Amino acid sequence: MNVLPEPDLSSIHPGLLVFSDLDGTLLDDAYSWEAARPALGLLAALGFPLVLSSSKTLDEMTGIAAELGTTAPLIAENGAVVAVPPEANVSAAPFGTEQVGPYGIEFNGLTRKAIVDHAHRLRQREGYQFEGFADWSVEQVIEHTGLNVAQATHSMARLATEPILWHDTEALWERFESELKAEGVRTIKGGRFIHLMGNIDKAMGLKRVVELYQELNPDMEWHVVALGDSPNDLEMLSAAHTAVVIPNPRHPAGLSPTAPRIIHASEPGPTGWNQALLQLLEPYQHHV
Ligand SMILES: [Mg+2]
Repeated sequence: MNVLPEPDLSSIHPGLLVFSDLDGTLLDDAYSWEAARPALGLLAALGFPLVLSSSKTLDEMTGIAAELGTTAPLIAENGAVVAVPPEANVSAAPFGTEQVGPYGIEFNGLTRKAIVDHAHRLRQREGYQFEGFADWSVEQVIEHTGLNVAQATHSMARLATEPILWHDTEALWERFESELKAEGVRTIKGGRFIHLMGNIDKAMGLKRVVELYQELNPDMEWHVVALGDSPNDLEMLSAAHTAVVIPNPRHPAGLSPTAPRIIHASEPGPTGWNQALLQLLEPYQHHV
């Protein structure tokens, strides 16, 4: 899984490239990163990029990125979308195949339209009982998620993943899942929804963004750090030089990534994020 060169952990590296999950990692249950402020401030003062990587949509992430003051690329919808704002300055040519607002966008896997088309065609043919975001109005999304109007609207602006609620039998689920798989659509069971997506994960987004930074400055030796709390972060954590596992009471078994260096934060959410990052940034303090 790890495609990066073996890191030399004995010395300090010229640059850290930090990839972070949001929910349960940099954000607490109240969507606050207040507890991570000291480490965020030090990271910014050192000029090290902070790349946010989430299952959230790009629309949900841009506001958070603006509040955090990060202008680095964003990885949205579990790695399916890599979005580069012009201020990131990582790409000389306009980035990506599509433009969404100021962001150049690149897709991995399938577009949401292709995923929804496959799923709905199977539903029509086989009579499966399920419903999802593509079937719902804003009001219905609010009803099913508890989001407010603005959040629901941002969450509906999906480019590459589709959350559904399955109302049919387990046996039919297994059939539907294997039919989707034949079309290149994989499924992940979340807390409430089942997410349909292409064959993607957050490591794909990480590798693409590392590539952008390396192309920009081929002589720079980036040390890649990734922070996450959930199974959908595992590939991203394993693709980094240093993986920071943030404990999450919802995943008591914990995560076992295969990165060369693994740090287990002692506190959940932004408190653990702050402690781990301050520890990693300690050798750089005198560069501020
Ligand atoms: Mg998370």
